[in-house]
Amino acid sequence: MTDVVVIGAGVAGLAAAGALRRRGVSVRVIEASNRSGGRAWTNTPPVLGGVPFDHGAAWLHAAEANPLVPLAHAAAIPVLDADARRSRNLRLGGRAATADELAAYRAAYDALTAAAAARAMSDAPDTTLAAALAAPGAELWAPTVAAWEGAIIAAADADALSLADWHANALHGRNLSVPDGLGTLVRAVLEPAAGPVALATPARRIRWHEKAGVVVETPRGSLAARAAIVTVSTGVLAAGAIGFDPPLPAPIEEAIGALPMGLLSKIALRAAGADRLGLPESASVFGQVSGEARMVFHAWPFGRDHVIGFIGGRGAWALARAGAAAAEDFARAELAALLGHRAARAFAPGAVVTDWGTDPQFFGAYCYARPGWAAARRALAEPLGSGRLIFAGEACHSAFGGTVAGAFLSGVEAAGAIALS
Ligand SMILES: Cc1cc2nc3c(=O)[nH]c(=O)nc-3n(C[C@H](O)[C@H](O)[C@H](O)COP(=O)(O)OP(=O)(O)OC[C@H]3O[C@@H](n4cnc5c(N)ncnc54)[C@H](O)[C@@H]3O)c2cc1C
Repeated sequence: MTDVVVIGAGVAGLAAAGALRRRGVSVRVIEASNRSGGRAWTNTPPVLGGVPFDHGAAWLHAAEANPLVPLAHAAAIPVLDADARRSRNLRLGGRAATADELAAYRAAYDALTAAAAARAMSDAPDTTLAAALAAPGAELWAPTVAAWEGAIIAAADADALSLADWHANALHGRNLSVPDGLGTLVRAVLEPAAGPVALATPARRIRWHEKAGVVVETPRGSLAARAAIVTVSTGVLAAGAIGFDPPLPAPIEEAIGALPMGLLSKIALRAAGADRLGLPESASVFGQVSGEARMVFHAWPFGRDHVIGFIGGRGAWALARAGAAAAEDFARAELAALLGHRAARAFAPGAVVTDWGTDPQFFGAYCYARPGWAAARRALAEPLGSGRLIFAGEACHSAFGGTVAGAFLSGVEAAGAIALS
């Protein structure tokens, strides 16, 4: 009998397994798909010329407090200051904003987010991020700020998000990027410490009433252990992909329902030739949002010859339903709207279109809290069965929710809280 079965080999599962092994605890890690890393996944798509591309996580946010940053340094994996390299290119009606217009946008952004943070810290009941951003007189920029903080950063529209949860998980400090890919960092640093991973081994049912421990049923047989750590997304849990016997207590079911998956999709296009559209390396290109879903682009990352378009929230779900070809067309149209018709000719045929929303191992990008439910992250992380069953992962962290840092810390915390007797 193994001490602990860890379900899911994403960042949380790998971190939990590594922490347990360091304590001399025996661990089996099972993973439904044919690779580990979960939502931290880098590959080298031929359509982008074979350079590393992060389908999911790309940035190490809040670098000063991010536990993966010292691990990258210790492993001599290069990380770059993404903020120092990024230029902001605000486009208004197909032209570049002037310096004054960009400064006005930045001032409005700071004022609106400060007002939202103050409202979140007040005694007022929780509301949506959108409600807190709708300051009188801010009509010009509020939708643009809401689209960035909601659909892009939180992967859900600002009118769906808990303001308290947005504030608790706001990321402060520098953002670093990993030229070889964040998934490569996870693979190089977390995988060796976690030990072997049984791939293509989905958990189907977890029996956790046995006095002696838990039994995890998979199509390849059952695993008996003293305890289990479950790191799958709330999308997978809500879909009922894993049965629990006895059923999960009501507060856990409520927490899963209160933490639905948001969606952030990336659509990457490669330059057809030498035209870089007048944009410097690592340019962030965006326009003023006036209601409809709009994309933000990251141009020429690390000096490479592709751009990455981001779309989140309802707009991303609509494109996921429409399919990859429609998403690619949408990205090309958005580029033309932002940068003019020269952009229509600047990109080669083909694209990488990420597909987290329909992938049954995830059912979304990362979760957000419904208004009034900011405490759900803590509720989901509460140990069950005297510590025999613990949920972990990005959903379970209350300061780094939605990030690889949150997944890592939550995995380590679960490893510390698991019952081993
Ligand atoms: C497009 C996108 C952009 C992002 N950008 C950033 C970013 O820049 N910075 C950042 O910090 N974060 C970012 N994130 C979020 C970050 O990737 C996640 O928060 C983090 O990787 C989640 O890790 P996890 O271990 O909690 O979950 P997961 O990575 O989902 O790991 C869970 C694992 O469980 C497996 N699994 C599912 N079902 C079963 C089953 N039945 N049995 C066994 N295994 C199962 C899954 O295949 C998966 O490998 C981004 C995510 C996306 C999608």
